Amino acid sequence: MKKHNFSAGPCILPQEVLQKASEAVLNFNDDNLSLIEISHRSKSFVKVMEKARSLALELLGLENKGYKAVFLQGGASLEFLMVAYNLLHKKAAYLNTGTWANNAIKEAKAFGEVLEVGSSKDNHFNYIPKGYIIPEDVDYFHCTSNNTIVGTQMKAFPETKVSLVCDMSSDIFSRQLDFEKFDLIYAGAQKNMGPAGTTLVIIKEEILGKVEREIPTMLDYQVHIAKESMANTPSVFAVYVSMLTMQWLKDLGGIKFIEKVNNKKAALLYAEIDRNSLFTGIVAKEDRSTMNATFTLTDVSLKETFDTMWSAAGINGLNGHRSVGGYRASMYNALPLYSVQVLVDIMQELEAKK
Ligand SMILES: *Cc1c(COP(=O)(O)O)cnc(C)c1O
Repeated sequence: MKKHNFSAGPCILPQEVLQKASEAVLNFNDDNLSLIEISHRSKSFVKVMEKARSLALELLGLENKGYKAVFLQGGASLEFLMVAYNLLHKKAAYLNTGTWANNAIKEAKAFGEVLEVGSSKDNHFNYIPKGYIIPEDVDYFHCTSNNTIVGTQMKAFPETKVSLVCDMSSDIFSRQLDFEKFDLIYAGAQKNMGPAGTTLVIIKEEILGKVEREIPTMLDYQVHIAKESMANTPSVFAVYVSMLTMQWLKDLGGIKFIEKVNNKKAALLYAEIDRNSLFTGIVAKEDRSTMNATFTLTDVSLKETFDTMWSAAGINGLNGHRSVGGYRASMYNALPLYSVQVLVDIMQELEAKK
């Protein structure tokens, strides 16, 4: 039986997507060729890329609104650099909410002045800063919607006239937002969309072409848009599986549907963390992530017992990030509610044992 996969990334994918993907590796479209041994310029693959790009915009409700979707390589980490390369003239504002935000800030500093308008570093990033002010003379404001490592999530985004740029790697397609508020959204596929190897970038085209510096070809968003994500050989397998996952989500009822499931899963687990005196949550309650729930044991001497129990129940990937410790249950779109129930049952069994 398949394990209950709470892995933070690469993440769980729908079983039917894995099935279709494995079939395509052997025989794609009944062409008697593998998906991964045909030209990326073949009609069959061009169709996949077009479908992937249009599904991304469709799921976010951004079709015909001046946005383009591209699938790039280099991970979300390369976007930390590309965003600044393409958008930063003089000064940009960043919200520091943890490791990933911090890495984005580090890259941007090579291109101009970086204003850290808010930071939760003072408390191990266990909350989302609020009440910060974004000056109107910055080129853009960058934030991280969901902080995968520590388990916080932005519930609201600032009202500002400046361009909003957001790293949505670990909660893209998980909840409804007013996506039109954002001028650029990026997400590494391996958290909530597909396998590692591709990054989705959604860009409002009108914000590009304004910096004066020379941009290297492969780091230039305008090149990737013009070449329709085929400036060089794309990551065909990762794009294909991402496309299947987006199609799976669309068939289920899209973000509107999955958000309800995600809220149920998160509510179930957080209720147990709060009720069961053996556990305690790591981050501020109002900023808790629906995707990555972090918690610790109140009595560390129970660690071995608890670890043995969840592992025996077929649970995978529950250990916290090495920088945080404790536990992290990642509940991405494809994780069934049932898996969360299995985890909650184990937490209650531990309590009964004590
Ligand atoms: C995992 C992650 C990244 C880094 O992604 P890579 O694709 O490995 O570069 C960046 N931001 C967030 C929010 C993440 O969760």
